[in-house]
Amino acid sequence: MDGYSSNDISAVVEADRAHVWHHLSQHKPYETVDPRVIIEGKGMRVWDARGKEHLDAVSGGVWTVNVGYGRESIANAVRDQLIKMNYFAGAAGSVPGARFAQRLIEKMPGMSRVYYSNSGSEANEKVYKMVRQIAHKHHGGRKWKILYRERDYHGTTIGTLATSGQAQRAAQYGPYPDGFVMVPHCLEYRAQWDGAHYGERAADAIEEVILREGPDTVGCLVLEPITAGGGVIVPPAGYWERVQQICAKYDILLHIDEVVCGVGRTGTWFGYQHYGIRPDFVTMAKGVASGYAAISCTVTTEAVFNLFKDDPTDTMSYFRDISTFGGCTAGPAAALENMRIIEDEDLLNNTIAMGERCLNNLRALMEKHRVIGDVRGKGLFLGAELVADRASKEPLDEKKVQAVVADCMAQGVIIGATNRSLPGLNNTLCLSPALIASPDDIDQITDAIDQALTRVCG
Ligand code: PLP
Repeated sequence: MDGYSSNDISAVVEADRAHVWHHLSQHKPYETVDPRVIIEGKGMRVWDARGKEHLDAVSGGVWTVNVGYGRESIANAVRDQLIKMNYFAGAAGSVPGARFAQRLIEKMPGMSRVYYSNSGSEANEKVYKMVRQIAHKHHGGRKWKILYRERDYHGTTIGTLATSGQAQRAAQYGPYPDGFVMVPHCLEYRAQWDGAHYGERAADAIEEVILREGPDTVGCLVLEPITAGGGVIVPPAGYWERVQQICAKYDILLHIDEVVCGVGRTGTWFGYQHYGIRPDFVTMAKGVASGYAAISCTVTTEAVFNLFKDDPTDTMSYFRDISTFGGCTAGPAAALENMRIIEDEDLLNNTIAMGERCLNNLRALMEKHRVIGDVRGKGLFLGAELVADRASKEPLDEKKVQAVVADCMAQGVIIGATNRSLPGLNNTLCLSPALIASPDDIDQITDAIDQALTRVCG
């Protein structure tokens, strides 16, 4: 690997073992196994400290590196911008900040304002604060509750964990603030209601919660367009139309969390654009700059922005929030170049074509492996739910699911799984290759899953 001697790399691995507290990790295994340190990436592939090549089917682990690794043009755009002007506190604008906001809004008819911060959690927290302030300013303190959905995830802070529909993510970090209320998930494969028109029925369950809580107490509903870590859940037909009607009926703001689906992942710029939704808030992070810089955006309409209109007699009237590094120009500079790449390389169409190929491959594997209970997804955002028994849909033992992931890893293909997020339901394999994936890449990913399932499940 260019630029590092084997001594350098051994020293790095030891420093990592001694001092880095890894995300989402139990550390006991690192006493005997080297922690994974990724040294290089190019296109769809990464190389680890042992020099082993991996095809990355999860875009950096968590649906992030949408345009792939080693993009010199993004690095150059960031470098040039940082030398010219790296940072000034958030109240001041910047050249890339203004330009990216304009380009983004062009892709989001109906939206108008972009608020910058650094992570998906933070972008979502901004919405929660805006909703609470709107309740104070315009509803006499009512309409302060925020509804979220079972199996969705919105971040890691205490505020966003209060809207975690994934019990294992939120457990042991409470108590949580009041006013966050869960509505049922909409996964038809694990249907909670009988009868036809499942999408409408699942949306009606939201209305039931609103009526139980009192419509005048509910200010906002936050939903992922397609649930990510909760099992790659594509809402059934009819769901979104009914959700939109319900929000309009009760004057509830609709917040779409595009932290995963945003910026091309599902084959449209944003996941909600598949469904004709008219959101009041859209948040995004991961794919905005494909991990080349930290950036997140809270995007809203002019109507919401106007709710914060300056009132000279009230010094509390504006949105009194700052994100220190929301003023860093690396993020929007990287995001502008990221967007140019997606357009110039026609990556939305590639995402649709490669997503269909991947879905078809997974459906073919279903014929062969009875352990695959369901496959679902949109664009390059796919999941395969593994079950011990197709009739009862009993989830496959989590250890076996992890064994499938480990077997793919041994074959040099990194896939993901719903991991320790849902009690008893961590049984969905997750795929989110970069939007540049080729037919060969897709086939290599699904071939690896095929072989892993044969070895682990017979
Ligand atoms: N929203 C969704 C849908 C996510 O999947 C995540 C992270 O995985 C977040 C929000 C939180 O983003 P971050 O980790 O950047 O804070």
